[in-house]
Amino acid sequence: MHGQIPVNQSIDRPKLVVGIVVDQMRYDFLYRYWDTWGNGGFRRLLREGYSFANCTYSYFPTKTAAGHASVYTGTTPAMHGIVGNDWFEVRTGKPMHCVQDDSVSSVGTLSDQGKKSPGNMWVYTISDQLRLATNFKSKTYGVSLKDRGAILPAGHSANAAFWFDTETGYFISSSYYKSLGGKLPAWLQQLNQNKMVAGFRTGVWNPLLPIEKYEQSTRDSTIYEASYMQGKAPVFPYKLSEYKHGKYEIVKRTPFGNTLTTEVAKALIKGEALAKGKETDMIAISYSSTDEVGHEYGPYAIETQDTYLRLDKDLEDLFTFLDTEVGKNQYLVFLTADHGVLEVPQFLKDHGLPAGNFSNHQFLKDLKSFTLSRFDSIPLIRYCINQQIFLDHEKIIAHKLNMQTVLQEIIGFVEKQPQIMNAFAYGAARPFPAIPFLDRYEAGYNKDRSGDIQFTLFPGILEGSRKKGTNHTAPYSYDSHVPLIWMGWKIAPGEEVEPIHIEDIAPTLASLLHIMEPNGCTGKAKKIPLRK
Ligand code: ZN
Ligand code: ZN
Repeated sequence: MHGQIPVNQSIDRPKLVVGIVVDQMRYDFLYRYWDTWGNGGFRRLLREGYSFANCTYSYFPTKTAAGHASVYTGTTPAMHGIVGNDWFEVRTGKPMHCVQDDSVSSVGTLSDQGKKSPGNMWVYTISDQLRLATNFKSKTYGVSLKDRGAILPAGHSANAAFWFDTETGYFISSSYYKSLGGKLPAWLQQLNQNKMVAGFRTGVWNPLLPIEKYEQSTRDSTIYEASYMQGKAPVFPYKLSEYKHGKYEIVKRTPFGNTLTTEVAKALIKGEALAKGKETDMIAISYSSTDEVGHEYGPYAIETQDTYLRLDKDLEDLFTFLDTEVGKNQYLVFLTADHGVLEVPQFLKDHGLPAGNFSNHQFLKDLKSFTLSRFDSIPLIRYCINQQIFLDHEKIIAHKLNMQTVLQEIIGFVEKQPQIMNAFAYGAARPFPAIPFLDRYEAGYNKDRSGDIQFTLFPGILEGSRKKGTNHTAPYSYDSHVPLIWMGWKIAPGEEVEPIHIEDIAPTLASLLHIMEPNGCTGKAKKIPLRK
């Protein structure tokens, strides 16, 4: 199906695979912002590329690290182990960050922001598989503002991954990547020294278009938007020098972070001579500013639309660079997102739509006091994260409590919360009433990193008590339906409406490259029409 290879010909593969993950991009953004796109970014992807119009996440929770890991491993958290951005390790009883690794050291900075690795991810990525397929002659890299957005896609055997250090404003790495030899490559040292990041840090963020052109967004200042600038309205222009928290944090939290990411990606492709060898190389680029801005302002803010318009320009810049540097039809791009996002609940309510907030903090307080009063003041709740409750099994045994009774009592309490639709114990899910998306919760469950009880929120309920800005976690359409577009190399333009899951991306790419799918892959290769 994906192009038979005629006799006497070498295997036809692109010179470079460019994986792009846009952080927090929902499927509808492609078309909601259509009128304001330029011609060379998203419109080019949809004009020249093959779009899967119904690509969804098939697990809970729709969080950044889990998303990136799933795209590149071709499976879900149940298999790859990245069950969230943060989780609770059942065995050690300690919280864990997805790419945290205290056994390695930072490269290119004195800060701790490089003490990271893909060690918590239990399976290979498609980038690892490409390395295996070519006897490690293919070069593979990851670039992102966020550590997890660079590290997880690049895989275990990557040449390197680079991410943004908010202390120095440099792109940095980790001693995990042995081939770096403990220092950043010369091209990156040079880029870190240029004045671009300093320019952004002290610059002004103005809308790209005249403000009245943002017809798909609310007016500039609304009650739905938080603001970086403490004590100031969420309104243009943003004088970034006035941002006082953290040295370079603000660059990440404005569209300029994506522009910086693009510059690093371009410099990397040149500096590491990607696409110049005999074998296919791969770069995974993750654009994180969209997520930072989206959380703060919500998907109906001019700030968010402007961040996408500027990303559109960055993509145009990247594709034009690739046309020249690698050659048209010599590189294969796929673009998707790590999750979507919910509208700001108050915005929905003001338009008569059902929505609300769920305060984890208050819930945990109430849950603990209920449990203490019901079970003789024994503290049975170990932890609560990712809408999961971790029970203290040792105490349950020591006090000779009946596990089933404990589960039942706690589930009964949890289900009394008005924003909670269901609660169930893993391993004992009730057949009735049916749990909507039970399969998605199971696909996100992992015995070492998940809790005993899972609760589910109603659609439209935001996890967290924030009244301004928004979040993502749910298995519902708004958090799970994302773009998936393939472009370049031999891809023929078109659109497919049949559903596809996020874990199908890696096996589809494997099939296009005629290599093995990653070792834990549970997704299925999908057909993409190719030009002759
Ligand atoms: Zn994300
Ligand atoms: Zn996010």
